[in-house]
Amino acid sequence: MKTAIITGITGQDGAYLSKLLLEKGYKVIGITRSLQSGNINGLNFLGIQNDVELIEANVFDLSNIIRLLEKYKPEEFYNLAAQSSVGLSFEQPIGTLEYNIISIANILEAIRIVNKNIKVYQSSSSEMFGNVKKELLPVDENFIIHPASPYAISKASSHWICVNYREAYKLFISSGILFNHESVLRRPNFVTKKIVSGALKIKNGQLDMLKVGNTSIMRDWGYAPKYVEAMWTMLNIDKPGDYVICTGEPHTLQEFIEKVFSKFGLDPAKYVKSDASLIRPVDLKVIYGNPTKAKTELNWNYNLSFDDLIEKLTEDEIYYNNWIKKFSAS
Ligand code: NAP
Repeated sequence: MKTAIITGITGQDGAYLSKLLLEKGYKVIGITRSLQSGNINGLNFLGIQNDVELIEANVFDLSNIIRLLEKYKPEEFYNLAAQSSVGLSFEQPIGTLEYNIISIANILEAIRIVNKNIKVYQSSSSEMFGNVKKELLPVDENFIIHPASPYAISKASSHWICVNYREAYKLFISSGILFNHESVLRRPNFVTKKIVSGALKIKNGQLDMLKVGNTSIMRDWGYAPKYVEAMWTMLNIDKPGDYVICTGEPHTLQEFIEKVFSKFGLDPAKYVKSDASLIRPVDLKVIYGNPTKAKTELNWNYNLSFDDLIEKLTEDEIYYNNWIKKFSAS
């Protein structure tokens, strides 16, 4: 039985990755910053809360990570924890930079000290590419990095720390350069979740109006459970590397809103309002990627259309909403 440690297990990807690793027979150890206040809704929703071992740890404390590696002797280490919101990073730039950069530096140092054979997966982000001219899209693994937010800067730095440790110390470190991927487990402060849960609340008479920022932005949106499959494969092939994980298809936020609202039989023109306070100081106008390397080297097969994604998000939201009512009542 292989052992994997996951940071960020309480997040969207952490929950789906845990489920995948458990299905593959792994022992899963999840790091959370607080056992008392950690939100394990995602693990509960997937029914795996009792199958993973949750431990409280501080990745800023090198000695804490060293002891964890010595105790659990993992074969694989997945670093998913991050202050992951671009919007929040403009409000909390120092905290975002500090956490996202120092955490991976500590993890890699601990691995260098304890056991250089532990394989590491790092979640990098398409935000690292910044505002790319339309005619140069789609971006791939070799595209120039020009981050446009504190979050993107933190992800670019942690990405390069991984490249450096791979080259300098020959560690097996792979980075997934992830484009936006969504699910019902997305945190409520992300726009896609706000739209899907907001539309359902309007449908159920619990909300009058949904406020959104710039709806002309274009993103390459995928389905999270498929993205965690690529993470596992990256650590289970012969060589480490960097992989763009995306659908290759851009859509506007307006299109996303229209499709979600129409699934609930609602006219977005009546219920969605633009709010200037939600517009970011700098935002990417359009970004989409080229998943060819992941398809050929990881055999990663993303076979969902944009409509399939909307279908899953809206249906899962209804199911989740009912589940949360029952769960809170029990
Ligand atoms: P998420 O749902 O926001 O989860 C983030 C996780 O990180 C949570 O477990 C959270 O713990 C933990 N975390 C956040 N700030 C922390 C801090 N200061 N100290 C300790 N733990 C902290 O993110 P996700 O969507 O699963 O994304 C996983 C990774 O992929 C992240 O690194 C993200 O930046 C990256 N990524 C995601 C996307 C995407 O579209 N989802 C795209 C590109 C890259 P708590 O539960 O305690 O808050």
